[in-house]
Amino acid sequence: MPRFGHVIGAACGEATSTRWMPVFDPAHAHPYAEVAAGDAASVEAAVAAATAAAPGWAALRSSERARHLERLADALEARLDAFARAEAIDAGKPLALARDIEIPRAISNLRFFAHAATQFASESHHGEAGLNYTLRLPLGVVGCISPWNLPLYLFTWKIAPALAAGNAVVAKPSEITPATATLLGELALETGLPPGVLNIVHGPGADVGEPLVSHPQVKAVSFTGSTAVGRRIAGIAGPQLKKVSLELGGKNATVVFADSDWRAQLDTLVRSAFQNSGQICLCGSRLLVERAIYPEFRDAFVERARALRIGGPLEDGAQLGPMVSQAHFDKVMNAIARARSEGGRVLCGGAAVAREGWFIAPTVIDGLGPDCASNREEIFGPVATLQAFDSDDDALMLANACDYGLSASVWTRDLARAHRFGAQLRVGIVWINGWLLRDLRTPFGGTGHSGLGREGGLEAMRFFTEPRNVCIALPTFTRPEHS
Ligand code: NAD
Repeated sequence: MPRFGHVIGAACGEATSTRWMPVFDPAHAHPYAEVAAGDAASVEAAVAAATAAAPGWAALRSSERARHLERLADALEARLDAFARAEAIDAGKPLALARDIEIPRAISNLRFFAHAATQFASESHHGEAGLNYTLRLPLGVVGCISPWNLPLYLFTWKIAPALAAGNAVVAKPSEITPATATLLGELALETGLPPGVLNIVHGPGADVGEPLVSHPQVKAVSFTGSTAVGRRIAGIAGPQLKKVSLELGGKNATVVFADSDWRAQLDTLVRSAFQNSGQICLCGSRLLVERAIYPEFRDAFVERARALRIGGPLEDGAQLGPMVSQAHFDKVMNAIARARSEGGRVLCGGAAVAREGWFIAPTVIDGLGPDCASNREEIFGPVATLQAFDSDDDALMLANACDYGLSASVWTRDLARAHRFGAQLRVGIVWINGWLLRDLRTPFGGTGHSGLGREGGLEAMRFFTEPRNVCIALPTFTRPEHS
């Protein structure tokens, strides 16, 4: 049985731990590997390794750090198939999703922030009081905590900017999906990343995540995960006045107007609800549909959802995999039961699939209003609700009737309406006539219960650096005459 050990300094593999916990194959609901069960002592060792490595890493030229990230990206690309297979089995996702989208995106993350390292510039201000220039200095040691739904994609989305900005990292991937982060940590050592620059500590959140967040030597924490854990992290980091970036849950609206090209876009609309079995923070789990097209849209959407092919990660043509764990399966099944008890009408799915593994059939529910828990709380599974609306104001009210504020998509051919919704939806990301299009330079994150701060492009580089302004007193100049 494979074992995923910590990566601490130059050490990796089995020798890094004496305590192990099972890792499950979600498509078969049985353990297929073990992961190191770290604790505060493992965090201490990783922080010590990072602290020792940080000054040397920070002292490199930006272009040298970029070369390290490029080398890692190249090595990952050369092993794309192996990483995709490991990811698919570990998280239960269709191999094609890992191979065609998620591992390539991890490669892009590394390349993008390699470029960012060389392009990142700081400000200078003059003409008011002296000459000011701003240094953007690495923070030292930073913590990166990531979830199980897009394991390597989100892991690299954090470690790449942290490293590019000159920090040493202690990363904690989800204990539920530890495979590819471990492989990447080992690959980083193989490709010559100095030991201690990237450390990985595995284990449960309470045993490893909390000691990492509270460690005084860890100067900032970038977290992606649930709102409940985000709150807990904010509670620990707050009194220490520690910088945090929190990318949390979502309950995103998909707003479909009668004038849209929805028939041609139905595949994307269905994908936006069910990709990765709905286990993506950006999935549109609340569909708001203009009443004039509601019956026709509902029937077409349900038919397409029903036709999604459920299967294990390595099954040909599988589009929808299982829930990642027994606990998550139970949570989603309970949410479906709650929707029924709230008066929801299950139009398709609504049950586990009769096969081995934690599979749930794609489920579409209507008949629930905006105040129901089913329309307010994140389910994070293959469950979408439908609500009809009568006007633009009604649609906006329904879309904003939620404490979360991560993303929304709006489907319309009316440009003025599209801009109005872009300005008035209370979310961090709005797509018009599309979903999950990502330019890595754009700010990424949410408002309200969806988080605090932004990732992506310069936002991430700024988060992982400390600005220091240097002001030079200058004699007053008069403007030279133009010749
Ligand atoms: P989670 O909050 O349970 O765990 C996320 C990570 O935090 C894991 O590594 C976990 O071990 C760790 N953790 C758990 N308890 C901790 C604690 N007390 N202190 C420190 N670390 C702790 O989330 P999950 O179930 O792995 O992921 C699903 C959630 O992530 C969903 O809510 C989803 O919406 C959210 N998510 C958000 C985004 C985004 O960008 N906004 C992206 C992906 C997933």
